[in-house]
Amino acid sequence: MEKRIVVLPGDGIGPEVTGEAVRLLGAVGERFGHRFEFQFAKIGGAAIDETGVPLPDETLRACLASDAVLLGAVGGPRWDRLPGPQRPEAGLLKLRKALGVYANLRPITVHAPLAGASTLKPEVVEGVDFVIVRELTGGLYFGAKERRQGEHGVEVTDTLVYTEQEVERILRLGFELARQRRRHLTSVDKANVLESSRLWREIAERLAPEYPDVTLTHLLVDNAAMQLVKNPRQFDVIVTENMFGDILSDEAAMITGSIGLLPSASLGSGGPGLYEPIHGSAPDIAGQGLANPLATFASVAMMLDYGFGLAEEAAAVRRAIAEVLSEGWRTADIAAGGPAISTEQMGEKVRNALR
Ligand code: NAD
Repeated sequence: MEKRIVVLPGDGIGPEVTGEAVRLLGAVGERFGHRFEFQFAKIGGAAIDETGVPLPDETLRACLASDAVLLGAVGGPRWDRLPGPQRPEAGLLKLRKALGVYANLRPITVHAPLAGASTLKPEVVEGVDFVIVRELTGGLYFGAKERRQGEHGVEVTDTLVYTEQEVERILRLGFELARQRRRHLTSVDKANVLESSRLWREIAERLAPEYPDVTLTHLLVDNAAMQLVKNPRQFDVIVTENMFGDILSDEAAMITGSIGLLPSASLGSGGPGLYEPIHGSAPDIAGQGLANPLATFASVAMMLDYGFGLAEEAAAVRRAIAEVLSEGWRTADIAAGGPAISTEQMGEKVRNALR
């Protein structure tokens, strides 16, 4: 198989972790007989420094013409004083919108040797393995916003708009994903209060007969927040709207202990997906070989799986990560003060395990 991947290293630790990810993809290609062609382009602060804008047209064109986009992270104190639309983050938001990636997938997996790294008790987090599917391009964050002077001072409005089509496509993705996993879909809403949630629930119920092999459960968002810390093992796939997903996925991330382990995929309808670690550019450790590349490696596994349909290759990457962790190799963020290896050394360990 031949695939063209646009790599956007971005800022801070972005170039270090994507550099190792590219080498890992090279090893995947060698082992399984695929050809991955890489095109590097600028985004974020690095793009601002060179071109004056956070997402140059050339970068966007390359991404739109690719099979998948792999991103490191953007941002840093150097660009913090720029006005909103000129900041590095604006480039990333524009890219997500231009790619039409309406579904954000965040797997939450606890690696057995790292169960002690969570702030929750090991017996609660051991074996946790679920995915949050968050609607990414609709709802409250994209609806009309207004601020006006009213009789009792300032009045504000944020509008939560969803169309039937937007809700159906994300729920379908949830059902499809559940079908590939343990066949349990939890749909999270606030149907006791919100009309948008009532539509959400209606559509979920309407789709359910098309997926008779998937068990559908509805959960109100406040209860979902509680259940995530009470018994996170009960979940397989959680599907929810934009704002609920934003909040719940950060809550869920903490179950695993380190931000340096968590990947994400943002998918649309058939175009290239965007794969990135959930962490930022970590300016405090940039350029020192301290960054954990495993979140980016796990994002590569998602690219192989969801982007290219290479399930066996994706599983091999995940197995290699698990093997290196069970052998006891740690970058500083997960070493709990014990001996640690560098970003590059972790990359080498995982490549060797893969081979
Ligand atoms: P951050 O995720 O960059 O860092 C938070 C903490 O986690 C830091 O102590 C950092 O050293 C550590 N950390 C993060 N990734 C790590 C890794 N792979 N290995 C080891 N340690 C890691 O969040 P922040 O400090 O709030 O933000 C820094 C910059 O990143 C800001 O400019 C912010 O806007 C940007 N940011 C970008 C993205 C993105 O590109 N998607 C996401 C979040 C933040």
